[in-house]
Amino acid sequence: MTDFDLFVIGAGSGGVRAARIAAAHGAKVAVAEEHKVGGTCVIRGCVPKKLLVYGAHFAEDLNDAAMFGWDIPSCSFSWPVLRDNVLAEVSRLEGLYKQTLSNHDVTIFHERATLAGPNEVRLASGKTVTAGKILIATGARPFMPEVEGVEHAISSNEVFHLERLPKRIVIAGGGYIANEFAGIFHQFGSHVVVVNRSETILRGYDEQMRDRLLQISMIKGIEFRFNSSFDKIERRDDGKLHLSMRGCDDLEADAVLFATGRVPNVEGLGLEGVGVELGDKGQVKVDANSRTSVPSIFAVGDVTDRIQLTPVAIREGHAFADTEFGKKPWTVDYGCVPHAVFSHPPIAGVGMTEGEARNKLGQVRTYTSDFRPMKNVLAGRNERSLYKLVVDAATDEVVGIHMIGPDAPEILQAAAIAVKAGLKKADFDQTVALHPTMSEELVLMR
Ligand code: NDP
Repeated sequence: MTDFDLFVIGAGSGGVRAARIAAAHGAKVAVAEEHKVGGTCVIRGCVPKKLLVYGAHFAEDLNDAAMFGWDIPSCSFSWPVLRDNVLAEVSRLEGLYKQTLSNHDVTIFHERATLAGPNEVRLASGKTVTAGKILIATGARPFMPEVEGVEHAISSNEVFHLERLPKRIVIAGGGYIANEFAGIFHQFGSHVVVVNRSETILRGYDEQMRDRLLQISMIKGIEFRFNSSFDKIERRDDGKLHLSMRGCDDLEADAVLFATGRVPNVEGLGLEGVGVELGDKGQVKVDANSRTSVPSIFAVGDVTDRIQLTPVAIREGHAFADTEFGKKPWTVDYGCVPHAVFSHPPIAGVGMTEGEARNKLGQVRTYTSDFRPMKNVLAGRNERSLYKLVVDAATDEVVGIHMIGPDAPEILQAAAIAVKAGLKKADFDQTVALHPTMSEELVLMR
């Protein structure tokens, strides 16, 4: 007999889904969370970021409004107003997450939990609790490289709480977070410099999409330094930061944001003590059923470093709960997971990039549409969108769709169904366009 059937460590997207579904299957469930319920996505990730992206977009919309007949005499932006409204929304969502767990009779321990044995958890208060199965869903945290003075820099954890908007911000990294926040801060009026160690942004995305984002970002005034790194960060007497650089000239800034990847949260959890094996990046090693090397212990989400995306963690948590507590075994299919960067403009993609398809399939046909959205034309905004279909020449199957332009993630979610279903280019051709839209380009490429 154990205290609980399932003990979940970490109330983020994966942990909450697993707890809720296991409880719905009749299991007695407990969750421990040392921070806020909701995890990275809800508290300091996707959700507040997307609200900032919406806020940032007004800068362009207000600018473009004049050509649509709107006379907006003057407008100014208040960072504290947006910041506080976003944080209030995050608190509201946290409340909803707690309520969901309570409605399913899940016990919440608002404290840190560590493993004490294959079926035992120790809480920060000193109490020990036993469980038939334990799920590790502790997520990941920002990786901060070892740079002298790195304590003067912030990560994506702190960026939502900034006291004031920096006039000049330097962003380290060229991935998701760097490009999303480069767009956000630029729209708010900050001068942005992105510094990356390599010669590219968004490694893994289709090359043409990356080039287009780089081109548009540079035209807007966002600066980039490639093949560069930080030697030292110093805070001067006037509060400004001096950045001694390698690979480019030194920089001055009011804030430095490190967006250089995320590492699994495994330290101090007691994993080694109970024999849970870790991979070379410190991630918890799991099989297709999210089972670790200890049969009673499972792990889902970013801590396993499979695909670091919220919807993937949610699926992993759901599959685990259905399999272990619902007598409905299934595993997550990692093929054709759509992804998006909420940059300005956003990028979205699903399936193989053109490069991947050429390497894997050999004979590939590509179709591209390079167009200026109607709204941009009237607004006088010289920003072009780019859509691409990657097609297996042997089968006519559409194996990848990549796009950059307004609302690209919204459009791609629907188009991803076609790629997942293995539809052919001929199916796209036979679909009548919905006019006038941007997405009609998907069925008009010849
Ligand atoms: P990314 O993995 O997207 O990018 C990391 C960047 O930092 C790369 O440009 C990489 O360089 C650079 N880098 C990596 N290690 C170092 C190092 N040791 N020193 C200096 N630079 C380094 O990470 P992010 O932090 O932007 O985001 C973390 C994860 O969170 C993403 O991978 C994604 O899974 C998730 N996320 C998803 C979002 C979405 O779905 N829209 C939004 C935000 C985050 P290089 O160019 O050489 O690879």
